[in-house]
Amino acid sequence: MSKIILTGDRPTGRLHVGHYVGSLRRRVELQNSGEFDKIFIMIADAQALTDNADNPEKIRQNVIEVALDYLSVGLDPAKSNLFIQSQISELTELSFFYMNLVTVSRLQRNPTVKAEIQMRNFEASIPVGFFTYPISQASDITAFKATTVPVGEDQLPMLEQTKEIVRKFNSVYGEVLVEPEILLPDNEACLRLPGTDGKAKMSKSLGNCIYLSDTEEDVRAKIMSMYTDPDHIKITDPGKIEGNTVFTYLDAFSKPEHFAEFLPEYNNLDELKEHYKRGGLGDVKVKKFLNNVLQDELAPIRARRAEFEKDIPEVYNILKKGSDVAREAAAETLAEVKRAMKINYFEDKALIEEQSEKYSR
Ligand code: ATP
Ligand code: MG
Repeated sequence: MSKIILTGDRPTGRLHVGHYVGSLRRRVELQNSGEFDKIFIMIADAQALTDNADNPEKIRQNVIEVALDYLSVGLDPAKSNLFIQSQISELTELSFFYMNLVTVSRLQRNPTVKAEIQMRNFEASIPVGFFTYPISQASDITAFKATTVPVGEDQLPMLEQTKEIVRKFNSVYGEVLVEPEILLPDNEACLRLPGTDGKAKMSKSLGNCIYLSDTEEDVRAKIMSMYTDPDHIKITDPGKIEGNTVFTYLDAFSKPEHFAEFLPEYNNLDELKEHYKRGGLGDVKVKKFLNNVLQDELAPIRARRAEFEKDIPEVYNILKKGSDVAREAAAETLAEVKRAMKINYFEDKALIEEQSEKYSR
């Protein structure tokens, strides 16, 4: 069986370092591993509109931002198809059929959707499109027969929902769809990177992000004002590591060689943590180290972005080409789905014969 990747992001803002450790960094590794037959990376504008219906301009503006972020982290259009969700109408058609296989109560149980409804104050009036976006995600994944979906932890319930739809479809209509596997980051800190304010998740909607395209100075300022241990007041005080955002970021980003380069008094992160816990290590020193680590990771990304920004028409061209390839793949699956559901009337010679015989008797 082919190994196929599908993943994507909502164009509700520029991409941040949470996206990077949660999914983007892994995608680039997988892309360059050469182990995958096809890779589809989707800018989920239609999904973004489910909770931004009255702000289409925001989505329209951010499509190019996300595309630039993709190219800047090293996604390569020669190896990965970058495409725009709304341009593939086959995806909506699949959703319409999958809706029959899912109950309202099942959607209501989705913990990510529940949390997002609360965050958006949608409790009293949830847009139907937003409520059903897990179904549309199942369409995105299955349309490409994806086997592997590299995403952050908040996507677990979506993958569960997708698997259920696949099983239900295949049992009712025959084996057509492929069950995908989620690929979560292997590092605990990357599953759900907290925001700079220490809040549970770095999220465009919460305004607590370090963006991949932030300037060097912005990144430094955000790190210097980051949430740490509120009880660690004097340098000599013992400090807490758990829930200390600066250390969570070091878990997510630091590599052993960073110590030799930027903080040679320590051999590794464990030694730094031990010192902090004991007392005698100030937040500013740790933050300066984190700044060096993060700048080291972000500088090449920033430089590549600047190159792609010089030719925006070419970026749209990349998305158009990717969308053409994606449409062809989705159309193939949709045709199989319709055949399995027996709604392929005009190509079904047996049906036409059967009906004409019935009426010639
Ligand atoms: P929005 O607030 O508009 O939902 P978002 O910041 O949550 O935006 P998405 O586009 O919904 O971003 O998510 C894109 C991908 O990035 C998903 O795979 C998601 O799991 C991952 N991701 C998003 N935020 C984080 C985070 N803080 N840590 C790890 N992964 C994340
Ligand atoms: Mg999200």
